[in-house]
Amino acid sequence: MRSLPTGVQRWTTKHAVGMCDVGKFKVRWGSADSAACPCCGEFEDNFHVPRCMAPSVSAEWDRRTATLDQWLDAQVTDPAIKHAILHLLQGVRDSSLPSSRVVPVCLCSAFLSQKCIGYQGLLEGRLSVQWAALQEQYLQSRGSQRSPTLWVSRLSHQLILLGFHMWEHRNSVQHSEDNVQLRKRSRLVNDGIHSQFDMCPTDLSMVVQRMLAVKRRTVLNKPLVDREEWLKLVRMERMAYRRALAPQRRILHRFFHPAQAP
Ligand SMILES: [Zn+2]
Repeated sequence: MRSLPTGVQRWTTKHAVGMCDVGKFKVRWGSADSAACPCCGEFEDNFHVPRCMAPSVSAEWDRRTATLDQWLDAQVTDPAIKHAILHLLQGVRDSSLPSSRVVPVCLCSAFLSQKCIGYQGLLEGRLSVQWAALQEQYLQSRGSQRSPTLWVSRLSHQLILLGFHMWEHRNSVQHSEDNVQLRKRSRLVNDGIHSQFDMCPTDLSMVVQRMLAVKRRTVLNKPLVDREEWLKLVRMERMAYRRALAPQRRILHRFFHPAQAP
């Protein structure tokens, strides 16, 4: 832990106990109205972040595990250990997947020991002590002078960083237009814009009539905040114009329906 950057150490602590800036705690701390994941809209806690099934998260997971695969090769990892670790990682997103039947008998004990620690533990860098001994045997069989202790320490870092990069991806979506909440806001404002263009433009002041004289596509292509402002203004103007016409309408109604006049 001490050799990780300070920010990653802090992140690991927060995410290991689950008290971090996810939807669940944002609602508890009053900084958000919804606990929805920005990538898929499901309830978000610390467990959800690497398990989110949004396509962009799946793609990021595949990319990160492919990078870990290359890293394990570069560190002269026993191919059977590499296969077992990557297979266990699949259990993070699909707990029905990992089965000890896919690893050689000599790795079964380490595999089951790691399963006992849990998949979330894997992302916290908590590795079974049995891996180092197995890697040491492999390195000795190749006559390598590499340190199995250093290998296991660096692997622990890589696993923590995998979880950290998934969190960074989640944050990049949170602050992009691909955010589920922003997509919903965008859909609602676009529906409102379509309604305004579909309605008659005569109930409006000249200023707003000019706003509606542009092509619908021009308004729909504006950034979300500008579209929301545009819609708010048109709605307010339409309402104000109707309110201003109400007394005239009452006078006309009394004129044409004198018997109904109070
Ligand atoms: Zn999600």
